[in-house]
Amino acid sequence: MTAVSAHAPQPPAETGLAASLTEVERQRILAKSALFAPPTGMLPDGRRDLVGLSREELTDALVAIGEKPFRTKQIWHWLYHQGVTDFARMSSIAKPLQAKLAERFVIGRPEATTVQTSNDETRKFLFRFRDGQEAETVYIPDRREDRGAVCISSQVGCTLSCTFCHTGTQKLVRNLGAAEIVGQFMAARDSYGEWPSPRGETPRLLSTIVLMGMGEPLYNYENVAKAMKIVMDGEGIGLSRRRITLSTSGVVPMMDQCGSELGINLAISLHAVRNDLRDEIVPLNRKYPIEELIAACRRYPAASNARRITFEYIMLRGVNDSEADARELVRLIAGIPAKVNLIPFNPWPGSDYRPSTREQLAKFAQIVMDAGFASPIRMPRGRDILAACGQLRTESQRERRSLPA
Ligand code: SF4
Repeated sequence: MTAVSAHAPQPPAETGLAASLTEVERQRILAKSALFAPPTGMLPDGRRDLVGLSREELTDALVAIGEKPFRTKQIWHWLYHQGVTDFARMSSIAKPLQAKLAERFVIGRPEATTVQTSNDETRKFLFRFRDGQEAETVYIPDRREDRGAVCISSQVGCTLSCTFCHTGTQKLVRNLGAAEIVGQFMAARDSYGEWPSPRGETPRLLSTIVLMGMGEPLYNYENVAKAMKIVMDGEGIGLSRRRITLSTSGVVPMMDQCGSELGINLAISLHAVRNDLRDEIVPLNRKYPIEELIAACRRYPAASNARRITFEYIMLRGVNDSEADARELVRLIAGIPAKVNLIPFNPWPGSDYRPSTREQLAKFAQIVMDAGFASPIRMPRGRDILAACGQLRTESQRERRSLPA
């Protein structure tokens, strides 16, 4: 029996008061997010980056230089289907217009300052943006097939300080802009030469996006949403919403909007099944406790038998890995179309946590599986290059600090 064949989830109706409180909270989150806004896409020389503009904004930019709106479709195709970075390669556009475009615009990419490939072929990119800020992106190939996931960052730093996460020790600097978010994926594809964008069901090497890198994507919702709409546009990169997963620590008020507006897959960094413990491990829980989080999962519009919600659970020895924890986990998520990813903890200097033993991992996984949920143990990838979960950016920061002033 699979979990999804159990009782169908019943979305709890939000009362009028609860709905308006959620709206107030949503507005507060969006206003706070604006305080960490990325720089504009304008270069010091007055040229504007075309990457990261919505179709409407691209049309406005072209009309502003005296071009007809139909050019949008043409240029969109060159940017996102062909992946060109030079106007001179837009062969369906006459040379004088190519030159005019090059005078007014650029086609930006983040600069890859470091690229490391792990023994297991995981590849980590340190990308530098125009203002010198940096974030990491990781490509994790599927070892059995020619495909793989690109793990993308949504913020420089993070506000959330989850205690098991080394990345979370770096405070939030700013949000990444839509151009920087989509740019990470495009630059990773440059590295593998995967242009033009494969159409339809044609296999792709960079076949899925997971918004699981540095930062909390639902605290930068507008830029993330804009970037994902660009990525999903069928005349460009054309990645299906089924191939995109957003991972959140549980920013409940933004989850409904994400589901209804983007319809992408959801992953929840759960990591504990009791509020007292989750308050400690994922401090955001003090604001949005487990009951609210699970209720938001039950009503998540894009979840179905075919598209399960992933519950991420980092296994910490003697902390959250008991059989009682496993039983409580399956009780909590009963009826949700879900799977549980069990993640062995990656120790890092300064952390007191230890990874669960193999035996405990196996016992925990068995209880979850017996309840009908898939519960793969996610073996850490790219450990040798610090590309595994929770390790992002830390090494690059350490290197920076050790440079002479
Ligand atoms: S797990 Fe994610 S949300 Fe939590 S501190 Fe790390 S990067 Fe931030």
